[in-house]
Amino acid sequence: MNLNALRKISYGLYIIGSYKGDKINGQVANTVTQITSEPPTVAVSINKGNLTHDFIKSSRVFSASILSEATPLAFVGDFGFKSGRDVDKLKSVNHKTGQTGAPIVLDNANAYLEAEVIQDVDAGTHTIFIGKLVAAEILNEEPSITYEYYQRVKRGTTPKTAPSYIAKEKEAPVKMSKYECTVCGYIYDPEKGDSDGGIAPGTPFEKIPDTWVCPVCGAAKSEFKKL
Ligand code: FE
Repeated sequence: MNLNALRKISYGLYIIGSYKGDKINGQVANTVTQITSEPPTVAVSINKGNLTHDFIKSSRVFSASILSEATPLAFVGDFGFKSGRDVDKLKSVNHKTGQTGAPIVLDNANAYLEAEVIQDVDAGTHTIFIGKLVAAEILNEEPSITYEYYQRVKRGTTPKTAPSYIAKEKEAPVKMSKYECTVCGYIYDPEKGDSDGGIAPGTPFEKIPDTWVCPVCGAAKSEFKKL
């Protein structure tokens, strides 16, 4: 069995919103699927450990904002790798309250859906929530992002121009520090560099171009802190 076959499935990226009491939250998911058209229903699979899972269980509603191709990688990183238990992820994001009461993220979205849960399917680590569509709007005609595009562009925009050998020779030897991504916990080790991102081994963090992003979550270089 070749599990890489699963990677051939195309997915979009969505911000799933829900609420519990007076609290709202959102998270990234790639598993929104239309199930039926009469009546229109959609499903989303959410990890049981996520705060959004608790919220959907409680309120029985969810929204799905469909992200467009121009979505900054750090935006996806913020929603995918920070927990609503630690930070208010919607605080600095343009959003509105939908007719279900669920928050609807408007930034970087080309459309949104709102659904009332009609069935939950226990899928082990995840629950599949099936919802009846109660609202849906198109916001703009930007193309929807795909997960494959996100992965490819994340690599593609990373400069391949690692600092040259000569430039490195001229540098006085300095103690090179490791840096940690405050979004996902990835640690940049200057001894190893980041081959996927075109950063050669031996490159100090300070010498990495500002356009470089976290290879795990896509957070900006400025999201890193020195260890
Ligand atoms: Fe990260």
